[in-house]
Amino acid sequence: MRFDIITIFPGLLESLLTAGVLKKAVEKGILQVRVHDLRDYTTDKHRQVDDRPYGGLEGMVLKPEPIFRAVEAIREPVESVTCLLTPQGERFDSRLAEKLAGYRQVILICGRYEGVDERVVEHLVDREISIGDYVLTGGELAAAVVVEAVSRFVPGVVGKEESVRHDSFTAGLLDFPQYTRPREYRGYRVPSVLFSGDHKKIARWRLKKALEKTLARRPDLLESRQLSSEEEELLEEIKKERKDS
Ligand code: SAM
Repeated sequence: MRFDIITIFPGLLESLLTAGVLKKAVEKGILQVRVHDLRDYTTDKHRQVDDRPYGGLEGMVLKPEPIFRAVEAIREPVESVTCLLTPQGERFDSRLAEKLAGYRQVILICGRYEGVDERVVEHLVDREISIGDYVLTGGELAAAVVVEAVSRFVPGVVGKEESVRHDSFTAGLLDFPQYTRPREYRGYRVPSVLFSGDHKKIARWRLKKALEKTLARRPDLLESRQLSSEEEELLEEIKKERKDS
């Protein structure tokens, strides 16, 4: 799978590929991440990418021509999706990340200043993506978030695919708590069930903890989830325990 990121600050994205699972995935050839300088798609001697907004407001807007040219030069004929990072877009979440992982090529356009000329939105991009209800200075951090989250769903990127399956949101629940050595730290003990060696019991405890956290912090996730009979049973148990305490 390939990501193409279009930005006026390519240097901001370079460190993304120098560490961790992304670096390994690129080395293994599972992922390709290319960062394109928008200025390389200008035709004037000043390599101008922005201009003043019509109608007379403060600030600058990214011009349409270099963005159209960049996307048209980069876009592959099949299984490609072109996304604009914008606070006005659909909210990025785990479901969208998994969907984007199904494409062969994801093109990410990073806005700057007051944003991009609206004709890019109307006539070039397939999707507009927001990483949350706040405004960043540019789309580069948002693009990095999208690359990281989408990559986790690309087979082979995360060494143990099982860890993606129980990540928060993937299965519609928050993740269960994890512990490592030492067994006791400052008198705080790791739950004894994790040393029981009983895998069924451990799996049930983890499911209960995931449900407990989700109910406390993100009950909306439970409303949109089809619960299994074991989950229904555990939720009843949790609610009863809450009432009794
Ligand atoms: N005037 C624009 C608005 O209110 O919709 C905001 C422009 S913002 C200062 C500059 C660029 O940062 C945007 O074009 C977009 O690419 C990026 N950006 C800012 N916030 C974002 C968010 N929450 N999600 C994704 N991209 C964002």
